[in-house]
Amino acid sequence: MDANIPVSSHPRIVIIGCGFGGLRLAKELRDAPVQVVVIDRNNYHKFQPLLYQVATGALEADSIAYPIRKIFAGQKNFFYRMADVQHIDSARNIVVTSVGEIQYDHLVLATGSLTNFFGNDSIEKNSMQIKSIPNALNLRSFIFQNFEKALLAQSGEQYQALMNIVVVGGGATGVEISGSLAEMRKHVLPKDYPELNLEHMQIFLLEAGPAVLKPMSKKSQQDAQRYLEELGVKIRLNTRVKRFEDCRVYYTDTEYIPTENLIWAAGVNGAEVPGLPPEVVTRNKRINVNSWNRVVGFENIYAIGDVANMLTDEMPEGLPMLAPVAQQQGVHLGKNFKRILKGQPPLDFKYFNKGVMAIVSRNKAVVDLPKDVHFNGIFGWFTWLFVHLMTLVGFRNKVVAFADWAIGYFSSDQALRLIIRPFSRKDMKDDKGKKTAERQVATPEYNPTPPAIQTPIEVK
Ligand SMILES: Cc1cc2nc3c(=O)[nH]c(=O)nc-3n(C[C@H](O)[C@H](O)[C@H](O)COP(=O)(O)OP(=O)(O)OC[C@H]3O[C@@H](n4cnc5c(N)ncnc54)[C@H](O)[C@@H]3O)c2cc1C
Repeated sequence: MDANIPVSSHPRIVIIGCGFGGLRLAKELRDAPVQVVVIDRNNYHKFQPLLYQVATGALEADSIAYPIRKIFAGQKNFFYRMADVQHIDSARNIVVTSVGEIQYDHLVLATGSLTNFFGNDSIEKNSMQIKSIPNALNLRSFIFQNFEKALLAQSGEQYQALMNIVVVGGGATGVEISGSLAEMRKHVLPKDYPELNLEHMQIFLLEAGPAVLKPMSKKSQQDAQRYLEELGVKIRLNTRVKRFEDCRVYYTDTEYIPTENLIWAAGVNGAEVPGLPPEVVTRNKRINVNSWNRVVGFENIYAIGDVANMLTDEMPEGLPMLAPVAQQQGVHLGKNFKRILKGQPPLDFKYFNKGVMAIVSRNKAVVDLPKDVHFNGIFGWFTWLFVHLMTLVGFRNKVVAFADWAIGYFSSDQALRLIIRPFSRKDMKDDKGKKTAERQVATPEYNPTPPAIQTPIEVK
């Protein structure tokens, strides 16, 4: 089967992935004498930094995604195929996809990253991740489903497992989702669940290292930790999760926290595509590239963004897996393609670090700018909102996100807590749509009689 892409007299550049990097690259090539073929398994570009807001009901899913075909409407050299790339056949210059083979003159991998479960099967099969829009919607449903079940739970431990939420990973995603859940506990849940004693809802943030927000400044780490603790999040540093079985998250061989709700935000691997030789793939599945994103050992294969491992003098362990790196590499590679077409030598990529930020809750965010400039609190929060609003793709998305945030801010409420498509662990799928859960974690037996007030289990 072939993917039915028109033959062109221009060289064909095939881009796998329309995330931050792929999108910028395809746009940069709009006037170039090339045929641009973008392949993505989703027909939309998603804004991953705001996925956790979808998961906690602060934003609607539609406001952080944008149809790929609409982004490129009017770009004459652009073709899109909704497909899953299965492997690369570099000897034949072909990618094998779920809709057939696609030939390339130049190939760019912009496939992003996948959640890293560090080989822990029990966690991979039973925890919730936040890497995609379906993941975020599942998480939203699952948490609210579990509150409904908590009203009916029979035993103390079942009840506690339904109420507790354990977030693993103290990076930006872990911090942001813990803060958002704590705000929900404070402002939203008391109105919706007056029968539940929300003091029994404990939010834990477990981090294997000695601080949250590892890549940020010490000041931002301390500020973020303080903000979370003020919101009642229980932070456990130097704590490594061992396994997740029968509604128990074990952090030593015997000590555990009872929970149904384990959110895994402890790390990512590059989303490599099979077919490249093992020597170009790093331990965390990123692909080694040279200073202008060409895959080491290949003439016509490139990688950008999270999946690319580019070492620089300033960052000898590789550039960070962040949206601005992917965007800047996409634009730069587009410019280099135009130079190559004109017979000019490509230029080295230089990362321009604009700073890093994380939001904890309403009016509380931490921001690190270059040259050791740090700020926090309400000014940091406004900066975070402004930057994210401006980076969202599409005018409609900016307006909807702004409206959702403004309503949430002034009413201290989030409207988006419908359980539209109830989620069960047996429906759990990975990014490629493959089912992952083999068995279900024990769920409580339902008690047909009215709920008794439960005593929380003390977790030391
Ligand atoms: C929850 C979360 C929060 C984040 N917060 C921030 C933040 O606050 N600030 C920040 O700078 N960065 C943040 N990041 C990281 C940022 O999102 C990534 O660095 C960025 O998305 C990388 O861009 P990319 O183009 O490399 O890949 P992506 O944006 O991930 O895009 C990859 C695309 O490739 C497609 N794809 C992958 N494999 C295949 C295949 N085999 N076949 C077909 N299609 C495929 C995917 O569907 C996807 O559309 C966050 C990430 C997550 C998950």
